[in-house]
Amino acid sequence: MITIDGQTKICGLLGYPVKHTLSPMIHEILAHHTGENLAYIPCETDPSHLADAVKGAQAMHFLGLNVTVPHKSAIIPFLSSIDPLAGKVGAVNTLVPEEDGFRGYNTDLTGLGRAMRYDGVSIPKEKTVLIGAGGAARAAAFLLAENGVTEAYIINRTLESATKLCDNINTTYGRTVFKPLLLSQYDRLPGDGYLAVQATSVGLFPDNEKAPIMDEAFYQKCSVGYDLIYRPFETRFMRFFREQGKPSFNGLRMLIFQGIEAYEKWTGKPVSDDVVPEVIEALERHA
Ligand code: NDP
Repeated sequence: MITIDGQTKICGLLGYPVKHTLSPMIHEILAHHTGENLAYIPCETDPSHLADAVKGAQAMHFLGLNVTVPHKSAIIPFLSSIDPLAGKVGAVNTLVPEEDGFRGYNTDLTGLGRAMRYDGVSIPKEKTVLIGAGGAARAAAFLLAENGVTEAYIINRTLESATKLCDNINTTYGRTVFKPLLLSQYDRLPGDGYLAVQATSVGLFPDNEKAPIMDEAFYQKCSVGYDLIYRPFETRFMRFFREQGKPSFNGLRMLIFQGIEAYEKWTGKPVSDDVVPEVIEALERHA
């Protein structure tokens, strides 16, 4: 339990809405573990007040901020600098104070990478299929490219968005890494043994019985599934894997590690992976 006093440092979340955020719970546990006196406050920020919110947080000496939908790209013009990787993605979710404002980082990307390592999922050079082409898929796609993937597919309901994301990454890295495919054409994926990263919103609570692909033949082509959704804890996508005796993971560790990476930047204190089971338990208890 946090005791707020005159020494308490403030962190916060800028988003619209922020009512369902789990981040305060994550940061409270991290602060408890590392012995920091800080409070993490959800700050519902209307898009028209975003610049004022950034200025206000700077004036009030916030230790750091997270940024969520719909501000992850819109906030960039109001920052004093941006980390090069976040700049490539074109989205930030973590702000760290510096002399003349805030520097933006993307710990969704690095947090997903750390979560996959924690879960023992390695990213193959070939044979990855990313389902979705929205904001979360974008961070995942750049993570794959940063990890030296040489061939991967982005499949999406709207081909145009998949093509745009593929073009963006291929241009950024100067090589043809990603190929776009329409979601309904999943049967065109050559061969098998794919890592499938699920980054659409299909299957999100309360639509627990939905998956973007409802055909077990697709899952036969895959060896491991990684769903970015964490509510429900086991999605229909994950269940397809379980039914075939294959491993799959939800997005809970991604959520936790994006928080840990932000927390480490704000406090300068490394957070041990030992805290992760406690955070998972607290989040599952809350659900
Ligand atoms: P976006 O709205 O940016 O993207 C949504 C994606 O889902 C698009 O690719 C969209 O396809 C696809 N989609 C939506 N509805 C359907 C449908 N009925 N059939 C097929 N495809 C569909 O959302 P985000 O990228 O921000 O979030 C996606 C998911 O990732 C969410 O469920 C969220 O919970 C999760 N997430 C998890 C995080 C974590 O820390 N674990 C962090 C951020 C997000 P189209 O382009 O055709 O519209």
